[in-house]
This record gives sequence, C-alpha cells and structure tokens, in this order.
Amino acid sequence: MTLRELQIGNRAIITSVGGDGALRQHFLDMGVLPGALVQITKYAPMGDPVEILIHGYKLTLRLSEAEKIEVEPAPDEDPSEAPSSKSKNTPHPGLGEGGKFHPKGSGDPLPSGTKITFALVGNQNSGKTTLFNQLTGSNQHVGNFPGVTVDRKDGQIKGHPETSVTDLPGIYSMSPYSSEEIVSRNFVLNDKPRGIINIVDATNIERNLYLTMQLLEMDTPMVVALNMMDEVSANGGTVDINEMESMLGVPVVPISASKNKGVDELIDHAVHVASFQERPLRQDFCDETDNGGAVHRCLHAISLFVEDHAKTAGLPVRFAASKLIEGDELVKEQLALDANEMETIEHIVLQMEKERGLDRSAAIAEMRYSFIHKVCTATVTKPAESRERARSEKIDRILTGKFTAIPIFILIMGLVFWLTFNVIGAGLQTLLEKLIDLLTGALDVALTNADVNVILHDLIIKGICQGVGSVLSFLPIIVTLFFFLSILEDSGYIARVAFFMDKLLRKLGLSGRSIVPMLIGFGCTVPAVMSTRTLPSERDRKMTILLTPFMSCTAKLPIYAFFVDAFFPKYKALIMIGLYVLGIVTAIIVAAVFKGTLFKGEAAPFVMELPVYRMPGAKNVALLLWDKAKDFLQRAFSIILIATIVVWALQSFDLQFNLVADSKDSILAFISGGLVPLLRPIGLGDWRIATSLISGFMAKESVVSTLGVLFEGEQITSALSSATAASLLVFSLIYTPCVAAIASVKRELGGKWAVTVVIWQCVLAWIAALITRLILMLF
Ligand code: GDP
Ligand code: MG
Repeated sequence: MTLRELQIGNRAIITSVGGDGALRQHFLDMGVLPGALVQITKYAPMGDPVEILIHGYKLTLRLSEAEKIEVEPAPDEDPSEAPSSKSKNTPHPGLGEGGKFHPKGSGDPLPSGTKITFALVGNQNSGKTTLFNQLTGSNQHVGNFPGVTVDRKDGQIKGHPETSVTDLPGIYSMSPYSSEEIVSRNFVLNDKPRGIINIVDATNIERNLYLTMQLLEMDTPMVVALNMMDEVSANGGTVDINEMESMLGVPVVPISASKNKGVDELIDHAVHVASFQERPLRQDFCDETDNGGAVHRCLHAISLFVEDHAKTAGLPVRFAASKLIEGDELVKEQLALDANEMETIEHIVLQMEKERGLDRSAAIAEMRYSFIHKVCTATVTKPAESRERARSEKIDRILTGKFTAIPIFILIMGLVFWLTFNVIGAGLQTLLEKLIDLLTGALDVALTNADVNVILHDLIIKGICQGVGSVLSFLPIIVTLFFFLSILEDSGYIARVAFFMDKLLRKLGLSGRSIVPMLIGFGCTVPAVMSTRTLPSERDRKMTILLTPFMSCTAKLPIYAFFVDAFFPKYKALIMIGLYVLGIVTAIIVAAVFKGTLFKGEAAPFVMELPVYRMPGAKNVALLLWDKAKDFLQRAFSIILIATIVVWALQSFDLQFNLVADSKDSILAFISGGLVPLLRPIGLGDWRIATSLISGFMAKESVVSTLGVLFEGEQITSALSSATAASLLVFSLIYTPCVAAIASVKRELGGKWAVTVVIWQCVLAWIAALITRLILMLF
C-alpha cells in the first residue's frame, strides 16, 4: 500500500521511500524514512497536496510523491508511543538554569583580541530570527554572502564586543537541497566559525535534533539552545537538560527567545565554549548493537579510510564519512579520492546495505533518528496535549478548509490592501504630505528672505523638495504593507497559502512556494526576487523571478495615484484594483506561455513543513520595519535625490549650459526627443512623459517627482487624454522594473537575463499600452 491510499486518520508505518536524488534525501532528512509512523491529517482544498503527521510535526507533500512511499498499517496504538503521563519527577530546569556542562571548564582560552565568530544555525521557524534579534539588539548589519544573494545578517552579541554572530538561512539538514542550504553548509565548512549556536525548537524536538546530529559532526565548539521552552513547560512537558547534555556532549541551554529568557545564560555558554574551543565530546552516535552494527562498522571503516583525505581537504572526518555513505557528490569531489579508493568505499557501503537491509541514505538517516529517539526517551517528557497545536488545528479548519480557504485568502489580502492604501497608510501619508508642504513653504520663504541665488533656490525648492518630498510621502504606505506581509509570514499563514495554492500554481507550471515571492512582490521586487532562493528547483526559481515584476510594487503606487487622481477621480478604487488585477492576469498569461515554451516540464516537488500558528514577535516586526524604512529613506536620499537633481539640471539648461526660459529647449528635451517617436503610437509622445519614464527606470517613485519638476504648475491633463492616461498607466505597470530590481535579477540569474527582462518587459508594456489605448478610443 502506498501513502496515497491511506485514509485520513489512519496510522501507518513506512516500509520504503521511493524516488531518488536530492528529493529523496530531503524526505529522509525530514524524517520520512522506513519505520517511521505516519498519519494523513488533511488534503488541501483542491485535493492535492496532502498534509501528514510525522515525528510529531506536520509535513505537506504532493500526491505524486505520496505515491512513492510504501506503508503498511500500523499496529494498534502502542502504549509506549503515547505521550507518557507519568511525570518523571525531574524538576523542570527552568529557563536558563541548565547548561552547566563543560568538558574543560578552564585551560588556555583563545588569545585575547581574537574575534569570536558564531554561526546561528537551526531549522526554519525554530525562532532563529527572534533569537538573533535578542542576541544582537539593533546592532546588526545586513548584507549578502559573498558571491550569492542570500541575505546575510551579522551582528555583535550585546555585551561582547569581541564577538560576531551570523544568522544563517534556516535549514533542515547538511545535505544541499536548496541553495540556502548550500550557503549554510558552506559557511560552517569554509568560514570555520569559532562556535556554533544551534537553535532547536523544543516543541518539535525530534526533527530539530536531526540537524544537531549533523552539526556535532562538524567538530566545532557548539551549544544547543533549546527554544520555545515556555510553550513546552506551559503544557506540562519537561526536558532533562543535564541528561541531554551528557548524551549529546555539548551544553544545552533551555531558552525562550520571544520572552528573552535564558538568553544571557546561552551567551555565557556560547562565549565560553568558543573561547576555550571546547569541541563536542561525542560524534559517534552509531550503535554497535543496533541491527547487527552494520552501519556502525561501515561508518567507522570509512572514517579511518578517508581520514587523511579529509584532513587535506579541511573537512571534519566524521562528516566526510557519513556524507560519503549518503553519496554526497560535493564531498566526494572535495576529498579527491581515486578510483580504487572509491571502489573500496562502494564495497563497504554495499556490504552495509546488504546487512542492514536498507539503502545507504536511509540507513544513515535511520541511525540518526534512532539515536534521537533514545535521547528523547531518556530526557523528554512530552506534554499530553499541546495547546498551541490544538489551537492551530482549529484555526486551520477554517483557514485551510475545503470551502473556506480561498475565499478567506482573498478576503485577507483584500483587507490588507484596503487597510494599507485606504485607512492606515493613506491617513499617515496625508499627514506627512502636509508636513512636507509646510516645511517646503517655510524653506521657500527663508530662501527668499536670505536672497539666495535664484538657480540654487530653484534647485532646492523645485528640484529637491518637490521631487524627494513627493516620494517621501509614500513611506507610511510602504511600511504599512510590509508590516502586514511580515505578520502574515511570521504567523505561519503564508506557508498555508503555499499549501492550498499549490495545485492551482502547478497548472501554470509553478509550485505553491512561488506564491511567497509573488506576495512579497506587492511590497518590493527586490526582496521578492531574493526570496526565490528558498525554491529548490532552478526552473521554478527562474520562472518565479521573471514573473514577480508583474506584481505591482509599492513604488508604482505614486504613479497610479497621481494619474488616477488627475484623470479618473470618480473611479479611483476601481482603477487601482484593476491595475493590480491586470498585473496578476499578465503574469498568469506569461506563465502559461512560458510553460509551453521556455520552461517545459513539471514544477518542482512540494515538500514543506507547516509550522503551528504563533503570534509574531513585536521586536522582530519592529526591526524588520525599521530595516525597510531605512532602506527606503536611503534610496530616497541617494538614487532618487540624484535622479531629481539630474533631471532638474537637464531641464534647466540648454546644450550650451545656459539657463533656459522654457524647458522645451533644454538638454532633457533634446535627449528624450529620441524616445518620443517610439512612444507616440501609444499616445505618450510628450517629451516630458518620455523623460519621466526614463527616470522611472532609476526608481519608479521618481516618475511622479520628475513630472512634478517638468510640468511645474501646468496641468498634466493638458498633455494627455484619458485614453492616453490609461495607456500610460498600463505601460508603467508592465515596463522594465527599476535598476535595483534589475540588479537583483542580475545577481540571481546573470547579466543576460537581466538585459532580457528590461527589453522584453518594455516590449510587452508597449503592446499592452497600445491595446489599452485602442480599446479606449472606441468609446
Ligand atoms: P525563524 O524562521 O527560525 O527565523 O523563526 P522566527 O524567529 O521567525 O520565529 C517563528 C515564530 O516563533 C515567530 O512567530 C516567533 O514569534 C515565535 N517564537 C520564537 N521564539 C519563541 C519562543 O521562545 N516561544 C514562543 N512561544 N514563540 C516563539
Ligand atoms: Mg527567520
């Protein structure tokens, strides 16, 4: 029987896991392995994918994958499996009281002045961001990993100026499945941090410890931060910290990142193990008595066999050996083994597979999970019922319910946009606009009184204040939209959206996960393009990147607002929504075309964890918003400021650098003149419009600021009819993304694609604008 045929609610034991390559390895790493107990809990509203319960957490996968997993009915509820109600009588350690475990305690620390670098590693949703924010306060620096665009956050641990901690992307295993996992793995292997802080979600401890087991093999000083202990203890669960420390051979500190409990102790231990370079005491978790000891013998034999190769390659021996058994190509390459040596290893592995009755990857995963099982039996008293999980199930019954999921999703997104654009954001925007006007007015008077040079006066008021000011007033809307998106993401809802949208998106050749970049795209294309790195397949990634620019970003809003106000004040809301919808429809059409041409084939498999719903942390959200606001302000005062000044200068002088009376004679008019014939068919033959579209390439917001400078006082309605205004709206919806977005496309896909995106979106926009104009001219 396969998992697909299992009925909802029935329990079964996995007997074999089919498939191959990275996906199969990923399944094994997630705990889908022979011997594991599974239960189907739900189908997505459209019948696919399916949600299963395994190792006490929820995983989603498609039916086509479920088909490859063989199961047999599980024996009736095994009393030893049920969460034990017999409390083990160990007092709860409290938060931050554990972690006394140190193999050395003292000795010779690293010479003072050495930078102590830490890697913060953990599963997704284990509370990494929350902990990182607690560890560093606002002392963080966001950048990129060299060579790749994966977000890299570094920070200094508060109170320890000699330290630096790097927040790595959330990973489940040290097998490279998605590009983020490769980054995390390479960071630990190549950057050789002095210490690892491994964050473990205590409410989902078995799956989380799987990564811990692999991190221990890195032979780097490490502490385990057992997070979410507030939930565990509130539900009546306990963890025997001392016992767990001695079984794992590293300090374990129970913490609650969101309540900031135990974090100070964690810092003490982390700094201690790193400065005394206390390495994990144990790496050897295979048991010689387990199933005849086949895995044990195989691991040890290969460890000895490749020891010198691993040393030369700078890889930890135990890590190299277990990755070789799993068949990891990257490690194979790094070890530079010759054909004979490879053959010997293959023989040892073959022998192990025969004796153990499992294939190589499954055998290693099984070994790890069975050690974890031992640790958990000895140290963890699980609560009979987790309140958070029960609550999540209730919420999910509605939010992912068969008939309610999609209407509620539309409702939620509608509410978010309404609140952002009509209520909160807009109100603040009006306020800010007034403030800016007031300041500009005051400055204007001051400059006049001080008798400042006319040109300078003109530059400051008409160039800078009006240009930058009009863009600045959009700050509230942008921050508000990011606020809602981050709440949706942090609470765990976006993962559900990916789950129930998967089937629909697959029709377009995408997977459910692509919905995340798309939604972020409504905020800004740059982070949206960057977030595609969580997609495991190259094909999906490319396609998603090419589609996200069609989601109207917040920077295009000023354009819409400006023209709709001027031309269609009566239908404001309708047209604004219409533009958003048009963007989505364009993306759908383009996707359908892509699927049949450029990107033939199936979307990548969909394997995803559904975390329990949690209240997003206020501090996380606040820091994120601060980040976005800072980013926007930086842009406003760099790119947009420069663009405004350049535009002002170009339109104030003629080719001989004399001040012009009418900007028709300016340098700008001369330059834009070249574009005018191209834009004339779509009704945008005015050189000022052409100029503003060029400046929109710098930053979309500056389309409006440029028009403000160029039209100074004159009504925009004099230059356009309503048909051409509509054509302009459509054109600016679709035409090339801004420089920053193109730069991120270039980093992800390379220069050729970046240029292609610019050209092809311009062509598409031109065609769409022409059609719009022609249709409207009929009326
Ligand atoms: P990441 O995906 O690993 O970066 O996880 P986040 O830091 O975004 O946290 C995921 C969710 O767990 C957020 O909603 C947090 O507010 C919540 N969370 C983090 N730490 C704790 C904790 O110690 N206790 C509880 N109850 N919730 C937490
Ligand atoms: Mg995070």
